[in-house]
Amino acid sequence: MRFIPGDAVPTSGVYRVEHDSHRLMHEAALLADTLFPRCKQCKDAVRFQLVRAVMDSQVLPFHAHAFLEDFTDPKPPLAATG
Ligand SMILES: [Zn+2]
Repeated sequence: MRFIPGDAVPTSGVYRVEHDSHRLMHEAALLADTLFPRCKQCKDAVRFQLVRAVMDSQVLPFHAHAFLEDFTDPKPPLAATG
């Protein structure tokens, strides 16, 4: 089963990240009940596949890194301050 950016992460675990074409597959640890991130380059074309589930305590909270960024609602927040 593949997930797309903005889907809720069903299970804490390590996910294989498949990019459109600019980068080889890699893996990322994601926490349940967060949203799958989006790729900075291929945006919503990135796909996620569960490799192995792990305990929440073993997953470092997701931080945006070189290739992934937090999924954000397309609507700008009302209180955006820049
Ligand atoms: Zn990408």
